Amino acid sequence: MLEVHQIPCLSDNYGYLIHDTDSDLTASIDTPEVGPINAALAQRGWSLTHILNTHHHFDHAGGNLELKQKWDCTIVGSRSDADRIPGIDIEVDDGDSFTFGSHQAQVFNVSGHTIGHIAYYFDQADALFCGDALFALGCGRLFEGTPEQMWHSLSKFIALPDSTAVYCAHEYTQSNALFALSVEPENQALVARSKEIDQLRAKGLPTVPSLIGLEKATNPFLRPASLDLQRNVGLEGAELVNVFAETRRRKDHF
Ligand code: ZN
Ligand code: FE
Repeated sequence: MLEVHQIPCLSDNYGYLIHDTDSDLTASIDTPEVGPINAALAQRGWSLTHILNTHHHFDHAGGNLELKQKWDCTIVGSRSDADRIPGIDIEVDDGDSFTFGSHQAQVFNVSGHTIGHIAYYFDQADALFCGDALFALGCGRLFEGTPEQMWHSLSKFIALPDSTAVYCAHEYTQSNALFALSVEPENQALVARSKEIDQLRAKGLPTVPSLIGLEKATNPFLRPASLDLQRNVGLEGAELVNVFAETRRRKDHF
C-alpha cells in the first residue's frame, strides 16, 4: 500500500510524504520546508529514503540539501533541469518509470510553469503528484514555457483516469474558483464546487487533493473544448491551444 501524508508548509504550500508499507521506503514529494517535513517523519516513525522533485523553485527544492544531509536520502529529479535541482542523484524524464518499493511511478515532462517540470504518476495507487503544473481549478503560471508547451503538458493529465487523485503543491483553490467562475459561470458543476470550497476554507480545511474527473469538469484550463468558455473568452470555434492561451492570459490579469 502507498500511504500519503499531506503537510502544510510555508504560507500556502503542501508537502507530501509517501510511504510504501511493503518496503518501508518513504519519499518527500518536493521539499518546501524542512521543519514540518521532519516533524511529520518523526510523528509517523518513518525514515526519509527519497526526495522526488517536481521542479527547481525554492518552495519545492529549497530543503533538498538540508534533508539529504540529515537522512542521506536519494534525490530524484528532472534530467532536463538537473543543473537546478540541488543534490540530484537520479535523473528522470518523460516516459521513464521510477521504482519505489512495490510501486512504479511514471514520469511525465509537464513543462510550462518551468522548463523541465516533471510530474509523478503512481497508477496502482491512483495518485498524481503534479507540483505547480496543475492546481485545483488552476494551472501554473507560465514563467518559462509557452502556452503550446503547457497545453501539451495539461493534455497528459486529461488522459489520466477520472479517479486519479491530484496532489498539487499549493492551496490556491478559493481564488482560482473566482477566476473560473468569471470565465465559465454557466458551469453548474463549477458553481457547486465553488460553494463546497468556500465551506471547506471557512473551516480551515484543505481543498486538496482533488480528482482528475472533477478537474476535467470544472477547471477552465482543462476545458478549452467548452463552448461556453470559448464564447466567454471571445474565441468560439478556435483551436484548443488558443483558447487555453487566452484563458491563461486572462488569469494573469485577473
Ligand atoms: Zn513553482
Ligand atoms: Fe510553488
